[in-house]
Amino acid sequence: MKSQEVRSQFLEFFKSKQHDIVPSAPMVLKDDPTLMFVNSGMAPFKEYFLGNAQPKNNRISDSQKCLRVSGKHNDLEEVGYDTYHHTLFEMLGNWSFGDYFKKEAIAWAWELLTEVYKIDKDILYVTVFEGSDDADNLEMDTEAYDIWKQYIAEDRILKGNKKDNFWEMGDQGPCGPCSEIHVDIRSAEEKAKVDGKSLVNMDHPQVVEIWNLVFMQYNRKANGSLENLPNKHIDTGMGFERLCMVLQGVTSNYDTDVFTPLIREIETITDKDYGKEEKIDVAIRVISDHVRAVAFSIADGQLPSNNGAGYVIRRILRRAVRYGFTFLDKKEPFIYRLVDVLVKKMGVAFPEIKEQKQLIENVIKEEETSFLRTLEQGLVLLDRIVATASEKEIAGAKVFELKDTYGFPEDLTELILKEKGFTYNKAAFQEKLAQQQDRGREASELKSDDWTVLIEDEEQEFVGYDMLEAQVKITRYRKVVSKKDGELYQLVFNLTPFYAEGGGQVGDKGYLEDTHGDVIYIVDTKKENNVIVHFAKDLPKHLNEKFKATVDAKQRFRTECNHTATHLLHQALREILGTHVEQKGSAVHSKYLRFDFSHFSKVTVDELREVENFVNRRIDGKLPLQEKRNIPMQQAIDEGAMALFGEKYGDTVRSVRFGQSIELCGGTHVENTGDIWHFKIVSEGAVASGIRRIEAITSDAVKDFYHENNRTYFEMKDLLNNAKEPVKALQSLQDENVALKKQIEGLLKDKAKNIKGDLKNEIEVINGVNFLAKEVSLDAGGLKDLAFELGGEVDNLFILFGANNDGKALLTCYISKDLAQEKQLNAGQIVRELGKHIQGGGGGQPFFATAGGKNPDGITTALEAVKDYIS
Ligand code: ATP
Ligand code: MG
Repeated sequence: MKSQEVRSQFLEFFKSKQHDIVPSAPMVLKDDPTLMFVNSGMAPFKEYFLGNAQPKNNRISDSQKCLRVSGKHNDLEEVGYDTYHHTLFEMLGNWSFGDYFKKEAIAWAWELLTEVYKIDKDILYVTVFEGSDDADNLEMDTEAYDIWKQYIAEDRILKGNKKDNFWEMGDQGPCGPCSEIHVDIRSAEEKAKVDGKSLVNMDHPQVVEIWNLVFMQYNRKANGSLENLPNKHIDTGMGFERLCMVLQGVTSNYDTDVFTPLIREIETITDKDYGKEEKIDVAIRVISDHVRAVAFSIADGQLPSNNGAGYVIRRILRRAVRYGFTFLDKKEPFIYRLVDVLVKKMGVAFPEIKEQKQLIENVIKEEETSFLRTLEQGLVLLDRIVATASEKEIAGAKVFELKDTYGFPEDLTELILKEKGFTYNKAAFQEKLAQQQDRGREASELKSDDWTVLIEDEEQEFVGYDMLEAQVKITRYRKVVSKKDGELYQLVFNLTPFYAEGGGQVGDKGYLEDTHGDVIYIVDTKKENNVIVHFAKDLPKHLNEKFKATVDAKQRFRTECNHTATHLLHQALREILGTHVEQKGSAVHSKYLRFDFSHFSKVTVDELREVENFVNRRIDGKLPLQEKRNIPMQQAIDEGAMALFGEKYGDTVRSVRFGQSIELCGGTHVENTGDIWHFKIVSEGAVASGIRRIEAITSDAVKDFYHENNRTYFEMKDLLNNAKEPVKALQSLQDENVALKKQIEGLLKDKAKNIKGDLKNEIEVINGVNFLAKEVSLDAGGLKDLAFELGGEVDNLFILFGANNDGKALLTCYISKDLAQEKQLNAGQIVRELGKHIQGGGGGQPFFATAGGKNPDGITTALEAVKDYIS
């Protein structure tokens, strides 16, 4: 059965059981502080499990893109070495939100596997939770056991411990026992030798878990204790690629039609065969896996970058490049060439990669190119480290520096060192690494208390589109502590005028005031699992009373000007540059706006001018805001709104229109474009291959910008003696400067010539050597020229010059080549040793070397000490 069909049969099956089939949510999460990427099918539905929102249908099924490369679930290091873990994989799932429970979940799983997919019962094992006698003191899940008994022989029902059979979303939140379904796809011969039962959950590549049925019945509180959930839920997840492996009768996920087209393409491009040599196979598996993860991330709007989710993606791609570089001898970019095959294979089920193919290829190619350059630089550096090493063991700090500064991976360093007969101090390296990781963890760690609920079951309402002030009640609050912001309180209101950060727009600030006149400042507003949370420095005194909540109107207005201008900018770019322009990120602040978009060349000055004019014409046109709330998605699309990739939309949406600009948007906007006053682009540049960034300002910020520029202009004009044409005046100053520099160079040369004449007379003969040690006020280049010129005229010469250049000490040592050889003198070594007098160091060749230091007072001592070398 082809993979395409495997997927559709799963969805069809659950559709027949009254489930709503929904598309995969984007893989990159935007408003969940605890998670970077969706790592299991349930992640996009967290708000339903937490009871923050209600699904339209309490039965849902889908195939969700998951990525397990960071945090609690991280399989990255396994990938390539085994045959059944991926970075990106599809998780087929069915959900019940307070509807059916264990009985149906088990019955349907069994029906689907054995009757629809017709998997032989004799290769299946299931597990149930055995209970725990730790602090939780949980009983065995006999309910699940008794249900399974109706379907499968009891000796195939295994009891599992908490690690395998109790599923928790995180440190807090919904959790419960689970039942896993495992397959044993070994040959009959192997099975005769070892009983399959003993291999379940033992990391055997052919006895693997395919499906996990989680029975959510508890809530884990911040203090670690469990409480029963009011509603019980079902959350199941089946590995799509593993299921394909079983149904296609192969023993590796990589031998299914999900991967074989990619593997064939890699074989063709690299001229290597899959299945002949283990390390080549690992590399091919790594690359075929990683290209999927990277392509889907880019499609979901997450470009490789230097921090956060972007950095994780960059590291995945670099891992693939490295395996190609080291084991497949690919020294030029090639991974981007696999995107074509990937799109042919998966573009139907996931149109986002088809529609953004060109962008994905460009970004991957550029990343590959730049990392290959880094790899080569790293190699040169490594050569130098080896060449100057005094022992066979390289310091761990050096290897760490290579990794940290040059992105040069440890295992590759190790490999190359080994080839050259070197080792490195692993313990020291690990220590450095751990230190760095600790620093990263500390900065991001967030501790939160349990919520204290003041008012139960109050649905929260957002009124901030229409008002900036409202009477509110606090429904719950908790304390959170982070290294970055210290102690803060999170407050939830029954209704709120505060806009929560989202859609690129910053969260509102403002204050709460009670009837006693006490004021609490709200420093930020964010959404967490669909609830608007206000951050306050202090906890209000009279928690149970009513408050007047007031949004900082000035900041909100400036932000709104920038948000509306962002829409107009988007429209302008598509109009002027073309419809290939797609939004790739946006940040709307009160002081400026930033807009990233796909476009394949620099935006010219003329185009930028045109874009500015386009936007300003619409500002001058005083277009009113036309807003539609809660309209069906399809209606908005039909009216001309555009859905963005990587964005998760509900069934109903809000559309925001100004003239011909229509967008799906949850942000806040000005009433009329005329409010913006003026729009000005302040910069344009590249963020990645094929992605440009424009930063712009509006409203008061533009006035400030012009005032500031004007002031600078007059200050400059003043400095130019009020020149009528300041640009011309500046140009002539520059010309004059160039001429003067030339003149000075000539004078310095003459000076050196004179010095040379004087110095020649000061050469003394010690032990048959022409010796000169002297402080001379020239720069490093001048000293070098001088030494070599003297060397050209005087044989058997030994020179040490000292110089004090603006407080920095410099030593220059010159020894005639014959003399250096004959007397075994080494200028490099000499300056290194003399360097200690000037508190510095240096080096060079046997006949010429220099040292620099921070103690000019030591120059005289150095000039004295040097005599020792010839006497
Ligand atoms: P394993 O022990 O094999 O790593 P898991 O316990 O981490 O699996 P779950 O978190 O229960 O798996 O995920 C549900 C299903 O998703 C698994 O039964 C498996 O089929 C699939 N799965 C989990 N991790 C991966 C992965 N890295 N690559 C491919 N499929 C996976
Ligand atoms: Mg796992």
